[in-house]
Amino acid sequence: MSPRVALLGATGSIGRQTLDVLRRHRDEFDVVALAAGRRVEELAASAREFSVARLGVARTEDRERLRALVGDGPEIVAGPEGLAALAREADIVVNAVVGFAGLPVTLAALGAGRRLALANKESFIAAAPLVERVRATPGAEVIPLDSEHCAIHQCLAGSTAPGHPDVRFLWLTASGGPFRGWSPQQLVGVTREDALRHPTWSMGPKITIDSSTLMNKGLEVLEASGLFGVDVDRIRVVVHPESIVHSLVEYVDGSVLAQLARPDMRLPIAYGLGFPARLDDRWGAMDLAERMSLSFEPPDATAFPAIGLAYAAARAGAAAPAWLSAANEVAVAAFLEGRIRWVDIVAVVATVMDQFVDGPMTEVVDVVRHDAAARERAAAAITVHS
Ligand code: NAD
Ligand code: MG
Repeated sequence: MSPRVALLGATGSIGRQTLDVLRRHRDEFDVVALAAGRRVEELAASAREFSVARLGVARTEDRERLRALVGDGPEIVAGPEGLAALAREADIVVNAVVGFAGLPVTLAALGAGRRLALANKESFIAAAPLVERVRATPGAEVIPLDSEHCAIHQCLAGSTAPGHPDVRFLWLTASGGPFRGWSPQQLVGVTREDALRHPTWSMGPKITIDSSTLMNKGLEVLEASGLFGVDVDRIRVVVHPESIVHSLVEYVDGSVLAQLARPDMRLPIAYGLGFPARLDDRWGAMDLAERMSLSFEPPDATAFPAIGLAYAAARAGAAAPAWLSAANEVAVAAFLEGRIRWVDIVAVVATVMDQFVDGPMTEVVDVVRHDAAARERAAAAITVHS
């Protein structure tokens, strides 16, 4: 029997690319559930295409609209509880929701002992101590869809001891975003259109902005630490503008393993669905006989302070990553709505982190409380910046 797949966040950039992979491997997977935030028509079309039995929408008021589009057949659930219910009943759960809203998916999938194919880094980072606990559920596993973490997952294949003592550094590559090489003075004038123009990847708006500030890389440092159980002191970032080397593992003997492919998210998505098997497709295939050069340079920590904030959060306390991610979500939304300048995004996050207060991080209510505290302070900081 084919593994049952639940795809939550089906109408976004990762969601659509996941459907693309599934479309080309229809006999190998059974799509049993789809969920989305607002694009109900698109969700309905995908539901019909894959004959999906269970559907989810973010808002209860969208249920009727979806019902009218899909008819009486499929079950329709709504809200965070609905997302969690869909995540419990599948063999592979693709979490392609954006932001903290992905939390119920991550916790429900792992709590039910499922494979979590994880794109939604924000909830994973915010709730790291809880995630750690539910990952111990028999059958539960996380396969990262983030391209860097997928690369590291592959490069770590022979390293099996917990905490990876044979590894000196995990090296995360960063494209550097659209403003690589810009001075702090130039960055003051960045527009929304400038920031939404990523040089190598086409992604949803939130992660595109995160890539322009390098906060995405900061979040990925925290994500890598949680995923692989490696302290942030052994995680490094290097700028690699070609986005061909997706990340590297440096072993204690000096050997460095890398994973290379053309930038195409369908490759890590296919890896996450098929693991340990490989889907027979050539998503990222390169012509190695072609002349090409690969370059590497250190990130500019002065112009892009976000990575430093992420390392500081890792050291500040169990709840600090939740604050960082929540403050960033609020600041990015404010930038996209034209309420603050690009340079204010990370400034708002820094202001919030200056006010950080640690506290218990054992239950979902704790995570939600920290998330709300950081959002409240971010909103206050935004009124000062706007
Ligand atoms: P996106 O904005 O394109 O899509 C987000 C999806 O989440 C949409 O389907 C939306 O309807 C759904 N959604 C939002 N709120 C929801 C809610 N409350 N309930 C149910 N569904 C909801 O975002 P994206 O670029 O696809 O990114 C998704 C996640 O993957 C993010 O965490 C991002 O950091 C991560 N990621 C994305 C890429 C990429 O190439 N796009 C690469 C690596 C990691
Ligand atoms: Mg990434």
